[in-house]
Amino acid sequence: MSRAAFAILSTENLLHNLAIIKKRAPGSSIIAMIKANGYGHGLRSTALRLENQVQSFGVASIDEALALRRVGIKIPITLMEGVFEPSELLIAACENFHVVFHEQMQLNWLKAQASLLPLKLTAWIKIDTGMGRLGFMLDEAADAYKFLMNHGQVNQPVGIMSHFACADEPDHQLNQQQHDLFSRFVADKEGPKSFCNSAAIFTRTADHYQVVRPGISLYGVSPLPAVNGVDLGLRPVMTLQTRLMAVRRVQQGSTIGYGASFTCLEPMPIGVIALGYGDGYPRTARDGTPVLINGVRCPLIGRISMDMMTVDLRNFPTAKVNDPVVLWGDGLPLEEIALCTQQSPYDIVTAVQSRVKFHWTLSV
Ligand SMILES: *Cc1c(COP(=O)(O)O)cnc(C)c1O
Repeated sequence: MSRAAFAILSTENLLHNLAIIKKRAPGSSIIAMIKANGYGHGLRSTALRLENQVQSFGVASIDEALALRRVGIKIPITLMEGVFEPSELLIAACENFHVVFHEQMQLNWLKAQASLLPLKLTAWIKIDTGMGRLGFMLDEAADAYKFLMNHGQVNQPVGIMSHFACADEPDHQLNQQQHDLFSRFVADKEGPKSFCNSAAIFTRTADHYQVVRPGISLYGVSPLPAVNGVDLGLRPVMTLQTRLMAVRRVQQGSTIGYGASFTCLEPMPIGVIALGYGDGYPRTARDGTPVLINGVRCPLIGRISMDMMTVDLRNFPTAKVNDPVVLWGDGLPLEEIALCTQQSPYDIVTAVQSRVKFHWTLSV
């Protein structure tokens, strides 16, 4: 038997999640966020499955965008952080990459490069309404917007976007402040507007505007604390699975793993699972973090090793070598693992390592 760490990725669940998002924001078109290697699910494979059903893909860099063009993706790709150097403007124009402008330097580059652009650019302006990360401050935004709206090499009208800082906390006062600033700024302006990530799609219906930008929810993971994806109608795209590679009976008083952090208070069966932090499983998992062995929930005990982890089989004494193990996904919400490891689900999915074998189910 070979080492059997697999990430099984469900095309059906990906498309199901997209349908749930469309139902939540029925009037909006979609920029599907697939930056960071499709949140760890695979940039190209995720894009190929969504291309016919979304209006654009959102990526962090021109390299990610070019990788998509290389596998034949034809729809517009949005560079969410814009260009990082002037020469990227020419590539963006040629390749129909939509460019976010979030600071003056990028506008200067456009000014300097304009005569070199063989085609008009499609542009968004990003304004900072309270996230405090990227975007023009409101007092500079009007001029920046005017500059783009009057630019001969920019398709008209220009889009306007902003980003919520606390959309996953519906009662946070910053949400209303950001809403007020954004709606005031866009009130008299034409062109598409976009304000919502996954959390805001589910909590801020009034801010959906023409374009929404779902990321984590596409992959079936809840963007809201204390709510699982399944509670929102979502289904996990990734199931991380492997097998039980050894079953042992250990004596009372034995300790398990590095640091001897777990002591067996009675004779007990222990399972060894063929997956560890070297595969991307969070090393911070505490004793009691659940895994599914043949569908039965069993608690992890002892520290996570690089290639292995150990599990208390007292719940399931008939477990045997080769039994299938699910670490998260189908039947075991990633959100629950996140709580037990004090990591965010975003961290966990994007950290699965390439030595895990990725396989997508072919179609619906
Ligand atoms: C990553 C990203 C999103 C998607 O966020 P999720 O919380 O994963 O839905 C939306 N908008 C921007 C600008 C982003 O960078």
